[in-house]
Amino acid sequence: MIKVCKFGGTSLANSENIRRCCAIVQAEEQRQFVVVSAPGKKNKNGRKVTDLLLDCYHNRFDETRFAAAFGEIADTFREIATLTKDFPIEEELSAMRQQLQSSEANLDFVLSRGEYLNARLIASYLDCAFLDAAQFIRFKKGELDVAETLACAKKLRVEGRCVIPGFYGLDEDGHIKTFSRGGSDITGSLVARVFECDLYENWTDVDGIYVSDPKVIENSKKVEQVSFRELREMSYMGASVLHAETLLPIYERPIPIVIKNSFQPELAGTQILQKRTEVSEKETITCITGKNDYTCIQIAKTMLDKQLGFVKKVTAVFEEYHINISHTHSGLDNLCFFVERSQYKEIAFEEFVKVLTARIDADKVKGYEKIALLAIIGHNLSGKVGILAKIFNALRENEINVKTIYQSISECNIIIGIEDNQLKDSVKAVYRGLIENA
Ligand code: ASP
Repeated sequence: MIKVCKFGGTSLANSENIRRCCAIVQAEEQRQFVVVSAPGKKNKNGRKVTDLLLDCYHNRFDETRFAAAFGEIADTFREIATLTKDFPIEEELSAMRQQLQSSEANLDFVLSRGEYLNARLIASYLDCAFLDAAQFIRFKKGELDVAETLACAKKLRVEGRCVIPGFYGLDEDGHIKTFSRGGSDITGSLVARVFECDLYENWTDVDGIYVSDPKVIENSKKVEQVSFRELREMSYMGASVLHAETLLPIYERPIPIVIKNSFQPELAGTQILQKRTEVSEKETITCITGKNDYTCIQIAKTMLDKQLGFVKKVTAVFEEYHINISHTHSGLDNLCFFVERSQYKEIAFEEFVKVLTARIDADKVKGYEKIALLAIIGHNLSGKVGILAKIFNALRENEINVKTIYQSISECNIIIGIEDNQLKDSVKAVYRGLIENA
């Protein structure tokens, strides 16, 4: 059995935490691939190294501000370097400083240096190899290129344990390219895929996946298992579990993931499997979450069922303005599109509603803003009697008005549209109705 272990920023924030993570690695020979984030926040008010690097980039022509941000980064790495005797930390830091201020350094390169130096330090402490992600992770046209990554990884000779920096790879022009923030999770699954690992351990600072965000629900229930599909829905609907694209490299060749707490490694954590096993079938609901800041466009057209090509005409207008539709509902004579507010980059929302109205010959087009989508995610939801009744009762008791409802064909989510200032209350109400009083 070969394992990849990915450690997040908080787990690696200082030398004490890194020592704890390295003890986890050393406890099992099977833990051969170690993927690391940059050091995260040391305390509540601290700052992540990646955020400080962002400051360095924006202030690269302002010596005072640059020095302030770089000074914090340097202090963090100097403290981590106390773990190893032989690491030439001062030389590395001065080389890094020069690189960050060079006119050739692009943003992605600058952001990647936290992972790079942390991985080198941890490899030195573990006395094992450092394998740069730039040697095999490939991007093409801004997107991860799994096939090319596989081809490059095949050419490498990897023997024994190695530490790999998360979060970045190379693009087709040979420049460093990062994933979006939190992307070391993707590096972990990519490493699992290309080096044919049997398990992906994702070590973080929480005990596993909770039904609801513990910041909203104190003592929220932890789940034992979730399926790939459920995880996709959860991440998409705003639950901050793993990066939303973590499963991309392992969809075709499923590799189980386990989320574990590096501060309490003895706890079981949460397993993420292609399909849940029977053991936890009884855990129907795996997540109650939601997202604010949606817009909704409702379109009414009499005899919609007789209009061939009407939906195509409508979606072509969204496509023209590069507006991604998150969810659609449809009725006999109406259509409803939910779109995240951030999608209106090329055209303002109000303007888009006007353009759409002019282009599609509908009876009525109406736009709504400030919509939140509440999501209830779980296993075989449509096969269970009474779930919807419990949800609606909980919302009614808290005077939360349901604007729309949608149950997906995948049978693993129920999406409910509400006013966006009621999202927290609705999560609390549904949690009480479905979990506490179950
Ligand atoms: N260090 C990066 C971030 O803070 C990437 C990661 O940790 O996954 O987003």
